[in-house]
Amino acid sequence: MPAEAALSVVLSPQPAFAARANSVGGSSVREILALTARPGIISFAGGLPAPELFDTEGLRIAYDAAFTASARRALQYSTTEGVPELRAAIAQRATARGLATEVDDVIVTSGSQQALTLIASALIEPGDVVLVENPTYLAALQCFALAGARVVAVPCDEEGIIPEALAEAVVRERPKLLYTIPTFQNPTGRTLPGVRRAEVARTAARLGLWLVEDDPYGDLRYEGAEVPWLATHPGAEDRTALLGSFSKIMAPGLRLGWLRAPAALRRAAVIAKQAADLHTSTVDQLAAAHYLAASDLDAHVDTVRAAYRPRRDALLAGLSDVLPAGSAWNRPEGGMFVWARLPEGHDATALLKTAIAHEVAFVPGSPFFTGTPDPRTLRLSFTTHTPQEISQGVARLGAALTEHGGRW
Ligand code: PMP
Repeated sequence: MPAEAALSVVLSPQPAFAARANSVGGSSVREILALTARPGIISFAGGLPAPELFDTEGLRIAYDAAFTASARRALQYSTTEGVPELRAAIAQRATARGLATEVDDVIVTSGSQQALTLIASALIEPGDVVLVENPTYLAALQCFALAGARVVAVPCDEEGIIPEALAEAVVRERPKLLYTIPTFQNPTGRTLPGVRRAEVARTAARLGLWLVEDDPYGDLRYEGAEVPWLATHPGAEDRTALLGSFSKIMAPGLRLGWLRAPAALRRAAVIAKQAADLHTSTVDQLAAAHYLAASDLDAHVDTVRAAYRPRRDALLAGLSDVLPAGSAWNRPEGGMFVWARLPEGHDATALLKTAIAHEVAFVPGSPFFTGTPDPRTLRLSFTTHTPQEISQGVARLGAALTEHGGRW
């Protein structure tokens, strides 16, 4: 066609985006938090593991080993479920934590985030109800919103989900699934006690719903006794998708997570994964498998825990000095986060702007809520700074609070 003819074509607008693409809005908080990458800022905002603790040498050796053993295999396509060595190592670790797991029970995923997407594709029709803790992990809320779910909050207290309230919500809402982070929850750091886990599993079995137990933080315990997975409780066995991750205990850049689920759900998840990415990177999986065979991951996790514990303690000690009377915050036994609530009338988003001027950052709690947010809440991560820096950061937060005082 001559160029003049092409130019004379009347242009029409492009067809519209899918409704789901517009259902998940941008975040003003994310824009503010972009500022926290500035050098000099002490940030309690990120959810990142401490990079100086990565076992870089052990992982480099593991990648070398993956290539030395068979570079052709490491660089080739592999099965959707994951490479057998890594699935076996995951099954063994899950079994050691008290949940008998076979190799075939496990799918390797590209981060545990992908497992959330797979579960959503396998289970959720637009309009289906998903129950969540309130507040909960932001990217899970986004994932369920993209699947067209109607997300409904289950009332929670300081210990997490209130089992009676869950039963009421199930009867009222007829949900497909409950999404929960029972151990060192994001964003609150809370852990659901064993008795409540048993009750949640019974409720799921009695009233009929899927349980999605997301556990990226469970290995990071600094004190107290381990609480067995929700998935281990009677009633949960044939209806729980358990999600694990190597992000917080090895390195998040590997993008390696896993999903343990009953056979039918696993099959649906495998089809969804095939459509999403065929399989998780072969070389990354083989390197992780070599790492697990040659290095002692538990010893590495001990090193990480030994570093994080005094960071948590420094944050907690500092908060008791600077948060105004009437504030409340928890003392998590593990994980990466402390959750705080300022007194009546305070607004954490307004405080963040002043805090950034004082070179300290945190995440306001509001975006983590379903329904009406609590503007007085904030999440503080203690993993990426030394105890000394944390004490200094909390002092800056105190200065920001003083400056802000009376201007809420
Ligand atoms: N679930 C929760 C509760 C998280 O906090 C995160 C990441 N911070 C993830 C899942 C995703 O982790 P990944 O994909 O790195 O395994």
